[in-house]
Amino acid sequence: MKRRSLIKSMGALSLGMVTPSLAEGEVLANPCETKKKSIETDILVVGGGTAGTIAAIQAGRAGAATVMIESGSQLGGTTTTGGVAFPGIFHAWGKQIVGGIGWELIEECVGLNGDSLPDFSILPDHHWQHQVAVNAALYSLLAEEKCLEAGVDIRYYETPSQVEFKKGLWNVEALGKGSSTHITCKQVIDCTGNALIASMAGFDVLREAENQPGSLVFRIGGYDFDSLDLNLIPQKYHRVLRENMLVAQERTSGENTFVPYGYVYVPEADSTTSESHTMANQHGRKVLLKLLRELRSYPGCEHVKILDLKTETAVRETYRIDGVYKMTHLDYLEGKVFEDSLSHSFYPIDLHREGKSIYQEFLKPAVVASIPLRALIPKQSKNFLVAGRCVSSDRMANSALRVQASCMGMGQAAAVAAVLASKQGTTPADVPINDIKQLLAKHGAIIP
Ligand SMILES: Cc1cc2nc3c(=O)[nH]c(=O)nc-3n(C[C@H](O)[C@H](O)[C@H](O)COP(=O)(O)OP(=O)(O)OC[C@H]3O[C@@H](n4cnc5c(N)ncnc54)[C@H](O)[C@@H]3O)c2cc1C
Repeated sequence: MKRRSLIKSMGALSLGMVTPSLAEGEVLANPCETKKKSIETDILVVGGGTAGTIAAIQAGRAGAATVMIESGSQLGGTTTTGGVAFPGIFHAWGKQIVGGIGWELIEECVGLNGDSLPDFSILPDHHWQHQVAVNAALYSLLAEEKCLEAGVDIRYYETPSQVEFKKGLWNVEALGKGSSTHITCKQVIDCTGNALIASMAGFDVLREAENQPGSLVFRIGGYDFDSLDLNLIPQKYHRVLRENMLVAQERTSGENTFVPYGYVYVPEADSTTSESHTMANQHGRKVLLKLLRELRSYPGCEHVKILDLKTETAVRETYRIDGVYKMTHLDYLEGKVFEDSLSHSFYPIDLHREGKSIYQEFLKPAVVASIPLRALIPKQSKNFLVAGRCVSSDRMANSALRVQASCMGMGQAAAVAAVLASKQGTTPADVPINDIKQLLAKHGAIIP
C-alpha cells in the first residue's frame, strides 16, 4: 500500500468511521470535512441540564417533534456533570409542591439505586434534609432513556452559533464536532442556565456587578477523620476533612440523607462561553491542587488522595433574562401566586459570598413561592421561552429560584407552553393559561 493511501485509511479508522466496504488502500474524499445538515422540528431545547432534560421529555411526550442540543456529553447539567447530585426541594410544610417528570426521574433513580427517600411528612430541622441524594451517573442514564423514549433527538457536543427569527420560525445554526446543522423550529426553549440563546437572539439579559462564586466539587479520602488531631491542622481545612468523611459514612448507611461534598470556591465562575468556563475550570483545579498539597503536609493527612473530581466547575449565577415579569425578592418571600403561576419553588433566599457566610432568609410557615409564565418569556420575544436559573428575577429571588426542583418545574411548564403554542400557531404568551394548566396537570405537574 502506498504511504499516502495508508495514511488516508488510518485516518478513517481513527475517526471511528465505519469502513467495511472500502477496498484496501481506497482513498476517501475529505473524511474530516464538516457535515452540513438541515433539520426541521417543532421545539428546540438548548441545554440538557436540570431544566432542559425535563423540558425535552415533556415536549416529546406531549407529541411535539423535539430536538435538544447539549454542549456536554451527558444529560443533567449541574445535577450530574457539576456534581450537585442532591436536588431540592420537592416538599414543603408536609406536602409535595413539585411533581411531574422531575419527580418521576428522582423516584426512579432512588429506587433503582436501592436507596430510600427521606420521610417528607416530618418537618426537617434544616431545609437541606429534604433534598434527595441521587446517584448522578444513574440519573444521567435514566434522563437519556426517558428522552429517547419520548422521541427526543439529542445532539451532544453542539452549540448554537447563530439564532434568527424569520417569517415566524427560528433559524438556528448549531456547530459541533465535524457538524454544522441548520435547525428550523417553531419554538425555542433556552435552558443553558446563562440565557445565552436569549442574548444571541437579541433579547436583553440582566447581570450583577458581582456574582456568587461557583464550586468545583470533589471527594477526598486516605485519612481517618476520627483519629486526626485537629489542633495540628488549620481551622480552614476542618470542614472539607469532616464533610468528606461524612460522605463515606452516609454512602454506606443506605439512608437517603443529604450528602455533603467537598468543594473549592471559584470566584466569578461563569459557564456562558467556552472561554469563561475554561477559566473557571482551570481556577478550580489550581485551587484544588494547592489544597491537596497543603493537606498532605499535616499529620494524619499524609496519604490524602482525590477519590472523585467533577469534570467542570458548577456555576451558581451568571445572566438572567429581562422577562415580561421579573420576580422580586418580596414576591418570593410572600409566596405570591399569580394568575399565570405554573410551578412552585421552595428554598431559602441563599446567596453564597466568598470569605463570608451564606446569606439566607427563610420562608415563613405555610409559604411557598410560585413562578409565573411571564417570568419565562423575554420581553419583546415571540415563540421563545427560558427555563432554569436564567428565569427573569431580581438577584435575591434568583438565589432561591435557581434550585433544582424549581428548575425542573419550570422546564416542564415551559415545554407545555411551547408545545401548545406550536400546535395553536401562536406564541406562548397568547396560549390560554387554562390550556397550559390542564395539560401540565395531565402530565403530573403540581400547579399553584
Ligand atoms: C455548587 C452548587 C451547589 C448547589 N446546591 C444546590 C442544592 O443543594 N440543591 C439544589 O436544588 N440546587 C443547588 N444548586 C443550584 C442548582 O443546582 C442549579 O441552579 C440548577 O441545577 C441549574 O439548572 P439549569 O437547568 O438552569 O442549568 P444547568 O443544570 O447548569 O444546565 C445547563 C445545561 O446547558 C448546557 N449548555 C450551556 N451552554 C450551552 C450551549 N451554548 N449549547 C448547548 N448546551 C449548553 C450545559 O452543558 C448544561 O448541561 C447548586 C448549584 C451550585 C453551582
